[in-house]
Amino acid sequence: MAVLPELGLVRSGDLDEVLATVDSDHAPYAGGTELVPAMGLGLRRPEAIVDLKRVEALQGIVVDAEFGTATIGAAVTHRRLSDHPAVREHLPTLAAAASRVGNARVRSTGTVGGNLCFAEPRSDLGCVLLALGATAEVRSAEGTRTTSIDELIVGAFETSLTENEILASVTVPFEPPGMSYWKLQSYERPTLGVALVVTEDQWQVTVGAATERPTRAVLAAGDAAGLAAFVDRLEFSDDMTGPPDYKRSVLRAHLGRTLGAAP
Ligand SMILES: Cc1cc2nc3c(=O)[nH]c(=O)nc-3n(C[C@H](O)[C@H](O)[C@H](O)COP(=O)(O)OP(=O)(O)OC[C@H]3O[C@@H](n4cnc5c(N)ncnc54)[C@H](O)[C@@H]3O)c2cc1C
Repeated sequence: MAVLPELGLVRSGDLDEVLATVDSDHAPYAGGTELVPAMGLGLRRPEAIVDLKRVEALQGIVVDAEFGTATIGAAVTHRRLSDHPAVREHLPTLAAAASRVGNARVRSTGTVGGNLCFAEPRSDLGCVLLALGATAEVRSAEGTRTTSIDELIVGAFETSLTENEILASVTVPFEPPGMSYWKLQSYERPTLGVALVVTEDQWQVTVGAATERPTRAVLAAGDAAGLAAFVDRLEFSDDMTGPPDYKRSVLRAHLGRTLGAAP
């Protein structure tokens, strides 16, 4: 069993205090489901970890019916997200995806913010939130900025956050009609995730888990050539979940079956 080196713990319910503390030696954490194993493997060596779970401002789920959005605090767990009545009503695909994350332990302790900020490619939430057009509120002691999910997750295990920034929340427009999410999963995490928003005029296809970061294409409905070009361009990972050709074939089969067009 790996023994963690001596480590400081910063706990505060005050967001400003947390923001003043976070830096390259003071890593934020919420559920610890990714950070603790990463420290055990020696991949992360902060001097101290900064608990985000006690910060009320990171815990909310606020629904704005007038603007048709839900703002979800970064420290909201997968379980709270999937059980929230308004999320289930207005964002059913997101709620369903959160309800199927990992296992019961990960769903009760792992958070939306931890999922996005660890940027492990084999994630459901990044794919679904990109498909929904969510925006992220990023905070630091210097101020606040808003960014898209596409700009937040820039690669495998890589985000655009600086060392003194945290993700505070994501704001998600209510789910549009014609949305679905399907995943292939043989192990604990997804092998391939596909979010679709299909209307009479448009196909919006977002692919995640099998690529370094979720990737979206917006095509005219029926554009089989455009769909094929998008699938051909995707760079699939080669790992224990299967080789790139396998993932590409599964994606083609799923899109062919769902959209009625063989890419
Ligand atoms: C066994 C297992 C199965 C899983 N299966 C799935 C699955 O099926 N689908 C899926 O989508 N995911 C899956 N996951 C990933 C899971 O969703 C994440 O582990 C969880 O959401 C991480 O949240 P956390 O709060 O525990 O993160 P932590 O471990 O606390 O933090 C993770 C990283 O993010 C940083 N961080 C955390 N919060 C913030 C913040 N607000 N701002 C800035 N940085 C922050 C930390 O510094 C750390 O680097 C699985 C994980 C495990 C362990």
